[in-house]
Amino acid sequence: MIRTGLGRDIHRLAAGRAFLLGGVAIPAEKGELGHSDGDVLAHAVTDALLGAAALGDIGELFPPQDAAWKDADSLVLLKIAYEKVKKAGWRLVNLDCVVNCEKPRILPYREAVRSSLAQVLEISREAVFVKGKTNEGLGSLGRGEAVEALALCLLERGEPYGMG
Ligand code: MG
Repeated sequence: MIRTGLGRDIHRLAAGRAFLLGGVAIPAEKGELGHSDGDVLAHAVTDALLGAAALGDIGELFPPQDAAWKDADSLVLLKIAYEKVKKAGWRLVNLDCVVNCEKPRILPYREAVRSSLAQVLEISREAVFVKGKTNEGLGSLGRGEAVEALALCLLERGEPYGMG
C-alpha cells in the first residue's frame, strides 16, 4: 500500500527573525514570522506526511492559539507528527520539496537542509530532495515579502488499509 501526501505553507518575512529551512538557519536579511519558529519547509513537510496518512493537519495537531507551541522548534513538531504517522504503520519512502523565495539563495544550503530533514525523519539523504526557486519578481513572493514551501511525500505500509 502506498500513499502520496502534499503539503504547502507560506510565511511572511520580517527583519529580526531567523530564516529557517528544515531546521537549518540560513543567513538572510529577513526571516519567517510565525507563532512557532516559522520554519516554512518543516511545516510543509509535516502537512505532507499527515495528509498522506489522513491524520489531520499541522494546525489541528499544534493549534497556533495554544501557548504550548509559541516559538516551538518546528523540527520537534515534525518529529511528533511523523511518530503519529509511523504509529499508524506508515514508513516514509521519499520526500521532494520546493522552496520559493527571492532571497536568500537556497542552493548553497541545500545539502545541509536535506541532511537535517533526513535525520529527523530517519531516512537516507538520498530520499530527501529540496529545490530552491524564485518567483521571477512576481507578487508578494517576488517582492521578498514571503517565503513559500511545497512538499510531496510517498508513504508505504505492508498491510492494506483497514487490515493492519
Ligand atoms: Mg507555517
